[in-house]
Amino acid sequence: MSNVKENLATSLITASTRGNYEQKTGAVNVPIYLSSTYHQESFDSFGPYDYSRSGNPTRDALEKTIAELEGGTRGFAFASGIAAISSALMLLSSGDHIVVTEEVYGGTYRFITEVLPRFGIDYTFADFTNAEAVEQAIRPNTQVIYIETPANPRLGITDIEAIVALAKANDCLTFLDNTFMTPLYQRPLDLGVDIVLHSATKFLSGHSDIVAGLAVTKDEELGKRLGFIQNSFGAILGAQDSFSLIQGIKTMGARLAQSTEAAQKLATYLTNHPLVEEVLYPGLSTHPGYEIHARQAKSPGAVLSFQLPNRDTAKAFVESLQIPVFAVSLGGVESILSYPATMSHAAIPKVEREKRGITDGLLRFSVGLEHIDDLIADFDQALTIASNIKQKVGI
Ligand SMILES: *Cc1c(COP(=O)(O)O)cnc(C)c1O
Repeated sequence: MSNVKENLATSLITASTRGNYEQKTGAVNVPIYLSSTYHQESFDSFGPYDYSRSGNPTRDALEKTIAELEGGTRGFAFASGIAAISSALMLLSSGDHIVVTEEVYGGTYRFITEVLPRFGIDYTFADFTNAEAVEQAIRPNTQVIYIETPANPRLGITDIEAIVALAKANDCLTFLDNTFMTPLYQRPLDLGVDIVLHSATKFLSGHSDIVAGLAVTKDEELGKRLGFIQNSFGAILGAQDSFSLIQGIKTMGARLAQSTEAAQKLATYLTNHPLVEEVLYPGLSTHPGYEIHARQAKSPGAVLSFQLPNRDTAKAFVESLQIPVFAVSLGGVESILSYPATMSHAAIPKVEREKRGITDGLLRFSVGLEHIDDLIADFDQALTIASNIKQKVGI
């Protein structure tokens, strides 16, 4: 940490090298240390690194960066977001119980419902937009309350402080998946959350080039426990990807600012389009939880979802759109359109999906860095084609 109080936008640039430029050359970027092992100069006292699963200087720079950005004490880099999430959940033991938000990332749902029960760890899903429902789901053996806000894909908002208060009253830890906001827009540790998790595959890296995950703790003791799991389970991020992620984080402020401004315009455009039945975006004052989100986060972010009448109109729209890529994932420089029912949430059975409002007309859009006028023009022509389909089939 520096002595001067910086804005986070500055820390995005300075955190990875703070006070520690590479000594031989003064290189402005953290070197990529491609070494699995480290020569020890002395027979009986070892240097700071011994083996790269346990610690690597490039990964270290990244881990310090994310810890600083989230206001935590320890950061951990993993091979994927799911590796970060599942490693954190390995803090649980057989006989424990976890309360999870109903609106959870598909891969997290899969891990919690299909892997954890094999180790005797039980779960209950609850509607996290309703603190009472969360409270009712807590049992004597509940150890973790798992939050995602804004959540995926309907951008549901959880009141972080309300859930943290419940967790503290019941001696539970809170984990929060902060992928959609990044530390630039939301800092859960400041609100009392115990572990912040990220799919750094998304906004943090920002270029759809790597798969990576991060976790941050505030409490030193919990940090030690998670560090032990990281080393024991071994799902670490490699040095090259750690370097890419450090570079991605440096441009995140500029990327997010532009994409968020564009997302707000696109959300307004969609709200006014007759074919669009519903627009879900935390930047719209009509969005459920709008005020809670405005209180706990600095910005609505660059992801929105919207509802077309049915599968046929969604298909026509997707097939007519020209600029965005049609793919899973989000948070890239390219706009990414996805169809949660068969993509990010395919791991959730159809009945459960529909209960959660992930219908066959729902599309999710991650706004990239293309010119917003071009994106809106593209949406406009594709929605016109989809509207014609609707008329033709007479629905
Ligand atoms: C993508 C994503 C994940 C999973 O991360 P991976 O890097 O794909 O393993 C977890 N949570 C959210 C909210 C995501 O969008």
